[in-house]
Amino acid sequence: MISRRTSGIVLSVSDHGESDKLVTFLSPDIGRATGIAKGAKRSKQRFVNKLEPFSLLRLMYRAGRNGGLLFLSEAELANAFFLLRQRYDCFVVAMFACELVLRFTREQDPDPAIFFLLLWTLQALESGRDPLRVAALFHLRLLGAAGYQPRLDSCGLCTEAVRPGRSYTLHPGSGLLVCDRCRHDVPESAPSLSVQTLKFLRKAQSIDLHHLDRLRLPSRTADETLLILYRYTRHLLQHDINSWRQLRGLRGAGACR
Ligand SMILES: [Zn+2]
Repeated sequence: MISRRTSGIVLSVSDHGESDKLVTFLSPDIGRATGIAKGAKRSKQRFVNKLEPFSLLRLMYRAGRNGGLLFLSEAELANAFFLLRQRYDCFVVAMFACELVLRFTREQDPDPAIFFLLLWTLQALESGRDPLRVAALFHLRLLGAAGYQPRLDSCGLCTEAVRPGRSYTLHPGSGLLVCDRCRHDVPESAPSLSVQTLKFLRKAQSIDLHHLDRLRLPSRTADETLLILYRYTRHLLQHDINSWRQLRGLRGAGACR
């Protein structure tokens, strides 16, 4: 069987039997894939300290039967993102990002936009950007890349363009932006979004990924965004986000500076 090369960001790792590991990673050319690293628990050279969550690896693999499990034969570390394992707030956001990528991607269905967004996220955290702001930008852009971009320029019910003096919220069941006049069938607890917040978010949706760093998202905007996207995403997935509890803890601790 032919050996191929790719690069991949490790999303999760688990033990498999006595000596092997199963590694799920995201690659720009093969998408999300799971490979078996034979003997990885014993090998001192091929895999040691490389198969860790968030690591960016250069991989050599052979395809499995029927597009299933890959066989990993070599891994070379391109970036270990060590800081993400040392700082709790960065670790939590990186876990949150990996969990959402796992849930919003399909096995071996490549989407380079999601790969480069995840890479941007890990690099932004590693370079000391505020973790909660990075989390908010990542989540917003991931929804766009996965085809669930909320439209934030007009009320989804009365269609009136967003304008000063009104307040808005996102309907958690439909992802529609709803103005205060149309808000009657939105749950009371849905947080409000100011016109200023919406302006930032529209910019964050459309700006080139290379320039996303330049956006100075106010702390309150990041916080509102995380909460509102969490509710929408939980509805989309019909599943809770496991790492949300830790992320919520960071919000509670006022880590969004
Ligand atoms: Zn309306």
